Amino acid sequence: MPEKYHININETPARFPLVSKYAIVETREKCTGSCRKCVRKNCAFGVFKLNSHNMQKAKERQYLYGCEGCFRCVQECPGGVFSRVKNPDWDNLGGGYWTPDIIHQTWKQAENGRVPVSGAGYRGKFAACGFDSIWTDMSEIVRPTRDGIHGREYINTSVDINRRPHHLSFSQDGKLDRSYTTVVEIPIPLLFEVPKFGIINRRVLNAMVSAASELETLMFLRPEEYSDDLEPLASSIVPRLKASNQVQFNNLIKKCRIVEIDYCENILQIIIAAKTINPDVLISVGIELDGKAVERAIETSELDEVDLLHFYADANGNGLGSNQPRFLSSLIQEMHSALVERGLRFRTNLVFSGGIALAEHLAKAIIYGADALAISTPLLLALECHMCYRCLSGESCPVSMEEIPENWGRQRILNLAGAWRDQLIEVMGAMGIREARRLRGDIGRSMCFENLEKECFGPIFGKSVAKGSV
Ligand code: SF4
Ligand code: SF4
Repeated sequence: MPEKYHININETPARFPLVSKYAIVETREKCTGSCRKCVRKNCAFGVFKLNSHNMQKAKERQYLYGCEGCFRCVQECPGGVFSRVKNPDWDNLGGGYWTPDIIHQTWKQAENGRVPVSGAGYRGKFAACGFDSIWTDMSEIVRPTRDGIHGREYINTSVDINRRPHHLSFSQDGKLDRSYTTVVEIPIPLLFEVPKFGIINRRVLNAMVSAASELETLMFLRPEEYSDDLEPLASSIVPRLKASNQVQFNNLIKKCRIVEIDYCENILQIIIAAKTINPDVLISVGIELDGKAVERAIETSELDEVDLLHFYADANGNGLGSNQPRFLSSLIQEMHSALVERGLRFRTNLVFSGGIALAEHLAKAIIYGADALAISTPLLLALECHMCYRCLSGESCPVSMEEIPENWGRQRILNLAGAWRDQLIEVMGAMGIREARRLRGDIGRSMCFENLEKECFGPIFGKSVAKGSV
């Protein structure tokens, strides 16, 4: 039996205090200091200990970092010294699609590699926009043998990267009449790419690439970002080439297993040139998710030389080139269906980038038709980024991103990937699915709020009233 895939999780604390949603305000003048029942020692999360350094400097009010908002100290202090408030720094985290909750959750997973658990249950909306309008089928949740990460059955999260032959053909003596590319499998449907913002120096980049290598997955980067110190990890790197710079990076093509070429009109010519440099190299074609994406996908998936199609939405998961962009889930479904209808889907693999912010998005995107997803912003978040965008205007980084220790960063990314994979396994276990490949395009495993509303209320009210926030 092949060895089970395992991600090495190791508790890796943040270097700076975590900004949490709730904060405890301590009103010092109310404290008599004589009741001998001080609740500070009882905090299950050690918040007072964690903040002891700041506390000494605090005068009147102190917002405590890391508070989980359990209320215990507020209720138990006989002097009423503490009160719970919303941390004023909370709303400064991220913005829009990248909510403070997502950022905080990512930090925690990068720290401990565990599946996030909310003791207070789900308190969000019944349905919202984007991935939050999709529910997954959990009908097998009660089957003990398929009980997610703790079950007895192995749940495989591997996916293929290279093109699959339509059929095998044999010569008269029974041998294969041509060589077929070896199957390239990655053990987790999660690939990395370099974030478009943030401080990306050698330390940050090396941490990301070495984590990709340890996870046996791939990292997309621009060839200008490659340097000789990454050579031992070259098999995990996918350089993103353009027609204009491909010749300049011929040496890099020789070293890599896969290269990506941005879609262009003479794409076949560029692919053939790359294959001439390295006949074994697999080819990914990068396609922007704009109005022409389907047409381009059909054209390129018909080419025998193409193994992978990599589609790019924006960082919030929106399609490109439109004032009213559609969300990633519907673009994935459209792409998958278009290729199925033309009998092309089995030929290539589809990777999508943009807007994958939580582990559950992985499962939902695969159900809608993706083979794998590429992430960038969550990698920066794993390194404690606050998404404050100060670096874009040359201001100092509140978490000194430029100074991260490489091994610390690598381990935080491994922890995040471990937590996401465990959640994917939990979802697949609850669906009774043991193979990530089997989940792909299995749309019947989900329900979409917009569709349900259209089908149920459309006939009554004449039109869908779904606006995505209930
Ligand atoms: S509210 Fe709970 S977690 Fe926060 S400081 Fe008080 S006891 Fe600790
Ligand atoms: S924390 Fe802010 S300044 Fe630092 S990398 Fe992130 S966005 Fe840039």
